[in-house]
Amino acid sequence: MARRKKVYEGKAKILYEGPEPGTLIQYFKDDGSAASTPPQTALEGKGVLNNRLSEFFMNGLNAIGVPTHFIRRLNMREQLVRMAEIIPLEVVVRNFAAGGISKRLGIPEGTPLPRPIVEYYFKDDKLGCPLVSEEHIIAFGWASQQDLDDVVALALRVNDFLSGVMMGVGIRLADFRIEVGRIWEGDYMRLIVADEISPDSCRLWDVRAEGEGGAPREPGPLQDVYTELARRLGVLPSNVTHSPKPTLIN
Ligand code: ADP
Ligand code: MG
Repeated sequence: MARRKKVYEGKAKILYEGPEPGTLIQYFKDDGSAASTPPQTALEGKGVLNNRLSEFFMNGLNAIGVPTHFIRRLNMREQLVRMAEIIPLEVVVRNFAAGGISKRLGIPEGTPLPRPIVEYYFKDDKLGCPLVSEEHIIAFGWASQQDLDDVVALALRVNDFLSGVMMGVGIRLADFRIEVGRIWEGDYMRLIVADEISPDSCRLWDVRAEGEGGAPREPGPLQDVYTELARRLGVLPSNVTHSPKPTLIN
């Protein structure tokens, strides 16, 4: 059997050519981790859990009519997806102030925002993924105004779905990011949710850690967020031995 072709290797995943035209296989590595853990660390078993978690969220989105690239999970670390032309943006939706928006605008972490705020970051690691506006995106031709209207609608539907699922298991979705891609069906172009939805792309706070009787307290990030989320959602594969200790690679 011919060796399959590697298309791309990023921080968290490897893409291989899929079995049919227009498909890709996403392999989930243990490297590339949630914002809360130091860079250059790999969490043993993280890729296995993210493969399951992304399957769970993408399946749920597909089921409510939010189109995603997900076709099916192939094994512990791989899933089959539709190949898309990725719009070079990280689309961020924020429900609570944290991270970049807190620093930029001086809003204390944990402050509820008046409504979900959608932001765009240019997907370029060398530039540190800078915040960009619709003006930049349209002027540089990364997407059209019509695309952006569709991206916002898509992102807000993902937000409602994810927020609801998380709240069902006692987790607050502070913010998350998605990547959006184009696929063609005949002459028609459609935008779909691509990449992954996992603790690496979501900022999650444990409602149970917020203090009794609504006493104001810093919301705590989940300890070992991958295992805890998989456990609460009931998608923890029984044969995964996941060590919560970060192990240094290289
Ligand atoms: P990065 O370090 O660039 O974030 P990752 O390790 O997350 O990379 O690997 C995933 C790569 O695959 C990303 O560059 C992402 O844009 C791309 N990608 C995700 N889903 C699709 C898809 N359906 N079609 C084509 N490319 C995709
Ligand atoms: Mg990525």
